Amino acid sequence: MTTNTENLDHAVDEHNDPHWESEEDGDRCPFCGRFSPAFGSGCEHHVATLGSGIRITEECTWLERLSDLHDTVTELIGESGGSRAFERFKKHFVRQSTLAKALIRAAAREEQLEEILVEALGYQYGDGWETGGWLSSSGVNIYHPRLSDSDAKEDEAVRLYEAFIEGAASAAMVAQHDAGRA
Ligand SMILES: [Zn+2]
Repeated sequence: MTTNTENLDHAVDEHNDPHWESEEDGDRCPFCGRFSPAFGSGCEHHVATLGSGIRITEECTWLERLSDLHDTVTELIGESGGSRAFERFKKHFVRQSTLAKALIRAAAREEQLEEILVEALGYQYGDGWETGGWLSSSGVNIYHPRLSDSDAKEDEAVRLYEAFIEGAASAAMVAQHDAGRA
């Protein structure tokens, strides 16, 4: 019994030590202060990890839908060539919601998905990490105060995706028609 208690005490002391550092890459949650590892599940607020590219945690797969939507919006806006029909559709689209507005703005500025999360949806970055040596890596985790709020965004992301594809397609047809007449 004595041995078990000693081991337990030792483990607790180690974590209370201000100079103690985890061997693992990761950072602390700005909401609850717990450590979340880079490529695993951390606290309930941990939704994604940014290293080379974005990696979404298993609990927050809805972000993949938002990621698809962001890619599609960015790509189609790039291809539209700013036709009048497309500009009209964009004006209509941004009025649908804050998320729709954020997507269009991000596409215009060529911003990444994480910038939408932080600027429009209230997500926050952790402190990030950087490890030297031959196994060097750096990155930052992304956290959300209430995962239930972001879950509710999944339906909206799906709806906006459909609306955008449809609107962009008919704008392209109108533009083609206009070009044919010119
Ligand atoms: Zn947390």
